[in-house]
Amino acid sequence: MDRPNHLSVVVDLSPSQWYLCGQPSNAHPLPLAAFLSQLLAFLNAHIACNDENTLSVYGALPGRSALLYSSASAELSELTDPADSNTYRQFKILDSTMMKSMSEQVDALSDLEEESPIGLVGSLTKSLCYINRVTNVSTSSTTTVGSDEPTIRPDPRILIISVSPDEAASYIPVMNSIFSAQKLKVTIDVCKIYGPESVFLQQAAHLTGGSYIFLDRPDALLQYLTMTFLPPPALRQLISVPTQDKVDFRAACFCHKNIVDIGFVCSVCLSIFCQPVPVCSTCRTKFPIKTLQRLNASKPALAPARSTAPVPSPSPANSLPRSQAIGLPRTTSMGNGISASPGRNGASTR
Ligand SMILES: [Zn+2]
Ligand SMILES: [Zn+2]
Repeated sequence: MDRPNHLSVVVDLSPSQWYLCGQPSNAHPLPLAAFLSQLLAFLNAHIACNDENTLSVYGALPGRSALLYSSASAELSELTDPADSNTYRQFKILDSTMMKSMSEQVDALSDLEEESPIGLVGSLTKSLCYINRVTNVSTSSTTTVGSDEPTIRPDPRILIISVSPDEAASYIPVMNSIFSAQKLKVTIDVCKIYGPESVFLQQAAHLTGGSYIFLDRPDALLQYLTMTFLPPPALRQLISVPTQDKVDFRAACFCHKNIVDIGFVCSVCLSIFCQPVPVCSTCRTKFPIKTLQRLNASKPALAPARSTAPVPSPSPANSLPRSQAIGLPRTTSMGNGISASPGRNGASTR
């Protein structure tokens, strides 16, 4: 508990989604101003938990991403900002820096930009780079001391606060970010405030051991944040943090960027396609014509499984275990077949 930990927050700042989220016609509307005050309270709580806790906040704006606050830059403004006897200095710097940089970024948006998809991937990768830097610095600084003390690494985690729907075109970069996070042992938590359930972010939380929460009451955001996302990952084995009861493992095809229920996976590079292809567009592997014919012939049988109806239909396609790739004979010198399987296997092993 006494170990310092690092939190990177990725805040979705899509103007159109926040406008919709704050509409009084919603059952529990959360306007942007109310969101910001609750978010700042949560961020203040994080830096108050341990005086060595570090924080960085990235804004995912339409078409780009920007650093809104970091503990490193706060140390600099600590030297210049006048003190206020009524406020804890760290809180004051955090609140004023966040609001200033956020309004600067939002003011800089042009009308055209406001419609483009948010820069979630950019914020996510920048957060990972920041974490990589923080953890490496702390490792080297503790080893140069030369004492026998164990190396103390800040317990890094990322919290994504999302209001926008999934951007199917960003499937591959999001998955690559997830794998980088796994490698860096970074936990990704997701707080979904508004909009449809996010397939990609569910997978991000599941694969990195984090929590994905879709808020039933967005207006009670602060309670969700403090009860679920304030405790560091090391503490979560002791307390009961809400977890996902179901995870949507669907992947997006590489050809049209559509989210598919059943995909065809290249047996060489594990690229996912929505239909059998003669040549893999990623690794240029050619597939035997017989395999293609067989897979095309089996497509109508697979079609009923595409429907997302909750009642399972007794079609022969359903009797086939979905995770099992169809084995293919190595008949030609190319010897590579496309196997039909859900995207999960292909995506998670890339
Ligand atoms: Zn496709
Ligand atoms: Zn391939």
